[in-house]
Amino acid sequence: NRQFLLDSRPQGEASASNFKLVTGETPPLQDGQVLVRHHYLSLDPYMRGRMDDAKSYAKPQPLGQVMQGGTVGEVVESRAAGFKPGDKVVGMGGWQEYSVVDAAQPGALRKVDTSQVPLSYYLGAVGMPGVTAWYGLNGILKPKAGQTLVVSAAAGAVGSAFGVLARARGCRAVGIAGGAEKCDYVVRDLGFDACIDYKQHADAGSLSKALREACPDGVHGYFENVGGMVMDAVMLRMNDFGRIAVCGMIAGYNGKPVPMTYPQIILRSRLTVEGFIVSEHMEVWPQALQELAGLVAAGKLRPRESVAQGIESAPEAFLGLLKGRNFGKQLVKLV
Ligand code: NDP
Repeated sequence: NRQFLLDSRPQGEASASNFKLVTGETPPLQDGQVLVRHHYLSLDPYMRGRMDDAKSYAKPQPLGQVMQGGTVGEVVESRAAGFKPGDKVVGMGGWQEYSVVDAAQPGALRKVDTSQVPLSYYLGAVGMPGVTAWYGLNGILKPKAGQTLVVSAAAGAVGSAFGVLARARGCRAVGIAGGAEKCDYVVRDLGFDACIDYKQHADAGSLSKALREACPDGVHGYFENVGGMVMDAVMLRMNDFGRIAVCGMIAGYNGKPVPMTYPQIILRSRLTVEGFIVSEHMEVWPQALQELAGLVAAGKLRPRESVAQGIESAPEAFLGLLKGRNFGKQLVKLV
């Protein structure tokens, strides 16, 4: 069982040397346990926060332990009621090829149906990122049909699900993403009404002018994934009593935090700005997952994935995610 441990904490930018590949044995199964062979490992921005010892939205991960992370795979051996070899499952198996799971622990392992939803989607559109989009939309932005919603990192795992859900609510969905290829995909494949390439703009003023054209009625709700210049530009376009769901600020994860240039707009435009962490809203997961799975089954939500091959590719793929090298949900394929 090959596994990646967190070997050291980054000083500034994370690097491949912070991780260490080791080979371990999986322990023999005890009563109540299940052995899972991982097919896909999820790489997520929150993992960068866990590599540090400082307060972040995720707890620090101890040194010398297997990197934590979401996984989907197949049960190969079971001593737990309700699980049998061949079952497809989603869990938090971590950066390794196999995991031994205490099946009775709440939320540790969930069986999934792959007849209409591809297994890997349970780490993306029909998993944590999808529910994140769902909660930001329905729990915080609460839009009315016809309103304009903007999302940053629109081509990514969360952003793609957000746009499709927003369109399904009858809203105008406007994305912001890095590069023409990602923007084309956001409009053509995901069905957003417009998408702006922030890399074409040197500052927030210029980006906000482009937003004015894409959002003729202003911005009613903003789903924030990035922070910094992108957030500044959208703030300048917010309507009075607009709402902002602060989901992530990835531009500041891997080094210096990003400043907010126009906090006075919150007062001037009487904005509601609310941060959230999806794992603190478990009550919405069943409903959200059901809606997301329905959209996938109906062919309305088919987002791209970036798939790295083999456990050894995990560190580089993760570092690439923090630099926008992924195009869609970042996964590592193990089987
Ligand atoms: P994505 O699939 O969107 O991948 C990250 C994307 O962020 C990159 O592809 C890149 O897109 C963009 N990005 C990276 N660095 C920068 C930068 N310096 N400036 C601007 N954009 C950058 O990841 P997820 O969908 O998994 O996550 C999106 C956000 O949601 C993250 O901020 C994450 O932390 C947050 N999140 C929060 C949760 C919560 O509970 N609050 C739960 C899950 C996710 P591009 O090329 O377009 O710039």
